[in-house]
Amino acid sequence: MKILGHEFQLIADDRLLLQSDDDGRMHAKTLKIIYNPRLPLSRQQETIQHEIFEAISELLELNMPHQMLTAVSEALYTVYKDNPEILEKIYK
Ligand SMILES: [Zn+2]
Repeated sequence: MKILGHEFQLIADDRLLLQSDDDGRMHAKTLKIIYNPRLPLSRQQETIQHEIFEAISELLELNMPHQMLTAVSEALYTVYKDNPEILEKIYK
């Protein structure tokens, strides 16, 4: 997956549950986004969306407050999930 020109690896790792309460992780230095495949599907999907925002925030040094990042991520996830045709219209 490419984010701001960097090729990130998207990795499913069910050991995340044992390591922490995190649903996912993003490592900008190693270009990895890790999510827990044992979560319900919508949580997996939103976690990936969240970690994309984490990557954008870190790569661009936005220092977005985590609560804002989470809110924007959740909101956009639901808009895109509920209106998949809009992605086609915007990015076609
Ligand atoms: Zn986060």
